[in-house]
Amino acid sequence: MPKQQNELNHLHVEGVKCDNPDCDYEDMSVEWDDMELTIKTYLHKPCPKCGESLLTPEDVKTMRSLATLIDVSTEISKMIPESMRPEGWDKEITIHADLDGSGNCKLRREDEHETGQN
Ligand SMILES: [Zn+2]
Repeated sequence: MPKQQNELNHLHVEGVKCDNPDCDYEDMSVEWDDMELTIKTYLHKPCPKCGESLLTPEDVKTMRSLATLIDVSTEISKMIPESMRPEGWDKEITIHADLDGSGNCKLRREDEHETGQN
């Protein structure tokens, strides 16, 4: 998903991968520009290699929660008047969210190792 202009916070989703730990299938060309369309296409779709689901309802629920969190953080960012924003306020911070089909999500900041798990 390309970074949206003028959006301070954004959700970037890349590709689809099989949740079976013994399977290495992934398709990083899958686009998430239209999240609902991609969910509709891949929810319960069997992996072409092992037959396991490529996208589970549990992971979709987690993705929607992450999207809500990002929307809220964007709203909060907009409430801070420009004159009050400290230097470096627009620094880009990337957080990777790894999903495994269970709905659990591992969060990792790009410049750090694992920062959290739920
Ligand atoms: Zn597979």
